[in-house]
Order: sequence, then C-alpha cells, then structure tokens
Amino acid sequence: MTARRIVVLGRQGAGKGTQCARLVEEFGIVHVSTGDMLRAAVAAGTELGKQAEAVMQAGELVGDELMLGIVSERLAQDDIMENGVLLDGYPRNAAQADSLEAILAEQGVELTAAINIDVPLEEVTQRMMARGREDDTPESIARRLELYEEQTAPLLEWFASRDKLVVVDGLGEEDEVFARVSGAL
Ligand code: AMP
Repeated sequence: MTARRIVVLGRQGAGKGTQCARLVEEFGIVHVSTGDMLRAAVAAGTELGKQAEAVMQAGELVGDELMLGIVSERLAQDDIMENGVLLDGYPRNAAQADSLEAILAEQGVELTAAINIDVPLEEVTQRMMARGREDDTPESIARRLELYEEQTAPLLEWFASRDKLVVVDGLGEEDEVFARVSGAL
C-alpha cells in the first residue's frame, strides 16, 4: 500500500493526540504534531523555540513561514516517505492549506484524506480546562478555540471541495472513537 498522508482536524481537546497515538500503533503511520514539535523546541531552547514561546503562551498562531519551513522539512524525511504521516495541528489556516498542497505536489504525492474528529465547543472547553497543559491558561484556551472557529474550521469546506473530508463523531469512549476513526481509514 502506498504511504498515506492524512490530515487530522478537530478542535483543541477533541482527542487528536490520543487517536493519533492509537493509529500509530495500529497502522505504523508516523505522527507529526506541529504543537509537539514546537513544545520540544521551546523546551530545548532552540532559536525556533525562542521565536515561538510567547506566541504559544498567548494561544496565537506561529507565523506561516516558520511553520512551512518546519513542516516541509519534516515531510521530506524517509520515515514518512515510507510509512506515511498523520499531520496533527497543520494546516491551521488557508495559507497553510495552500502550502501543504504545494509541498505534496512537489513531492509528487497526494493527500489521502482529512479526518475531522468532531467534538462540540462546550465539551472541548471543559476537557481543556481539565487537561492543565503548560500553555493552557483560560485566556489561551479561549483564544485558541476562537482562532480555530475563525481560521481552521473553514478548512473543512476546503477539504470537502477536494473530496478529501471525512467527519468522525469524537464523542464517547476512546475505544468507540478509535473504531470510527480507523473504520474511516
Ligand atoms: P497544538 O498542540 O496543536 O494545540 O499547538 C499548540 C500551539 O502551537 C498553538 O496554540 C500555536 O501557538 C502553535 N502551533 C501549532 N501548530 C501550529 C500551526 N500549524 N500554525 C501556527 N501555530 C501552530
């Protein structure tokens, strides 16, 4: 089977990270979370980390150019060329979606699907309040969710118009959601 390139969409707190971890186990696909990459860069104190830290704390988006550099470099690596990728946290806006399309076109590969793990706003807000991650303050949570509705949610239509969108109900037990997600693949 050719390597799958899958975008994982969903509000922050929808369970993208958890479901991606299960998919890695089940299918051996490589999980690339741009949020995890940025957090690692912050922890390591790299130049990228220094540039991203304050932006992340505020719940704002790191610049598209910076993100394009990170993502295009990562997507070209051998493990992904061989095993495919679950792209989690990218694209986040229309410019990033266009960039992703260009990266894949240049590699001569196609996007397999974009899976939206759908969880209502009220539910994810509660989940995120309970999660207590370093960059989770009530203000940054609210801002990230606001940015999602404003900039990322329109991508659902973008992927649908390319016949790539798969919507999965993200409510319920982790196992139930996993059954839906893996069924959709
Ligand atoms: P996440 O773990 O996906 O919620 O990302 C955590 C934070 O990293 C976000 O609030 C942004 O500040 C930043 N970030 C992650 N992915 C992106 C992206 N594709 N574009 C811009 N900023 C991002």
